[in-house]
Amino acid sequence: MEHYDIIITGGGGAGLSLINQLCESPLKNKKILLIDKEDKDVNDRTWCFWEASDGPFNDIVFHSWDELSFHSKDYSTDFNIAPYRYKMIRGIDFYQYVQHKIAAQPNISVLKAKVENVGSENNKALVSAAGKVFSADWCFNSILFRPIDKKQTNYLDQHFKGWIIKTEQPTFNPGAATLMDFRVPQDGESRFLYVLPFDQHRALVEVAIFSNNLLSSAAYDKILTQYIAKQITSEAYTVEHEEFGIIPMTDFPFSRSDDRVIHFGTAGGDTKASTGYTFWRIQQYTQKVVALMAKEGHPYIKENTFQKRFKLYDSTMLKVLVKDRLAGDDLFTYLFKKNPCLLYTSPSPRDRG
Ligand SMILES: Cc1cc2nc3c(=O)[nH]c(=O)nc-3n(C[C@H](O)[C@H](O)[C@H](O)COP(=O)(O)OP(=O)(O)OC[C@H]3O[C@@H](n4cnc5c(N)ncnc54)[C@H](O)[C@@H]3O)c2cc1C
Repeated sequence: MEHYDIIITGGGGAGLSLINQLCESPLKNKKILLIDKEDKDVNDRTWCFWEASDGPFNDIVFHSWDELSFHSKDYSTDFNIAPYRYKMIRGIDFYQYVQHKIAAQPNISVLKAKVENVGSENNKALVSAAGKVFSADWCFNSILFRPIDKKQTNYLDQHFKGWIIKTEQPTFNPGAATLMDFRVPQDGESRFLYVLPFDQHRALVEVAIFSNNLLSSAAYDKILTQYIAKQITSEAYTVEHEEFGIIPMTDFPFSRSDDRVIHFGTAGGDTKASTGYTFWRIQQYTQKVVALMAKEGHPYIKENTFQKRFKLYDSTMLKVLVKDRLAGDDLFTYLFKKNPCLLYTSPSPRDRG
């Protein structure tokens, strides 16, 4: 049986972030096997997140904004999030960035295969893939093997479709993004658009819905088309790229570890239940776990009181949405109105011309 120090199952956002951290740590010469069923050579997603300073992927940030706006039927605000910036990384840039690092490390092997199973036995992790069983001191797993129990927990799909559009006329302010715009028919769900401009002619326009009813592709397209016509431009534009995704928003009690197998990423509960944001949390987790492994030789991080408290807040907010105690547009409007961080809002970038 081939043995590794570390096997990483799933080489997407979490798996490659872990490799990136390992490459920058005292553990960089460990014998590592990364297994994924895909080549990760397509731009299948864009990641957005807040950061106040430089992060591990600063070199590949595609665009960032510090002027953001929020809109709902009866409330609009523009605000400046400095010293934070809302940053966007394209999936393909991220995959290639880490793949280059892997290519420079002969101790890291990559296997393209479907992982059938992960488990622990006699103080070793066992991973079945490509008709073989591999063993390791530790397996970091980001594949969701155990289905999320949607009935026993608060659960919503965050389903979204986005277009990168190119306009003929200069249309966008690349310094200002729309974070949430609820000014679309809600149909009893939480529906909002966001607009992330890259330059005067190009922006990612995306519709996101928190509900358990996926729409047809044409239905998302209709919402996008109507929103663009009403809020962005009546001029001609072309769609250069499309993305679609579903993020589970849940307070399901994900298990972080099963003995020698450590779960992380979406499969380890790193998705924020109330918003679906995951990328930054993956960076926090992988930084911490690699530091702990280097210092103490094990990856068991204890959840602190602060994390437990925020899990409770996320779960409460999700429950309000799931049980429909308050409509999503009203809930987010309330939060934006009450947030003391937004009291010091800057003049609207549009007002400033
Ligand atoms: C389109 C999209 C946009 C998103 N945008 C944002 C965003 O802006 N900000 C944010 O914070 N979060 C965002 N998310 C949520 C989250 O950050 C991503 O889902 C992120 O990719 C999660 O990382 P992960 O490693 O857990 O999952 P993934 O990145 O999906 O990685 C899992 C990997 O496991 C592999 N795999 C699965 N099953 C097997 C198997 N049996 N055998 C072998 N390999 C397998 C897959 O090929 C994949 O590479 C987005 C999600 C999607 C889908």
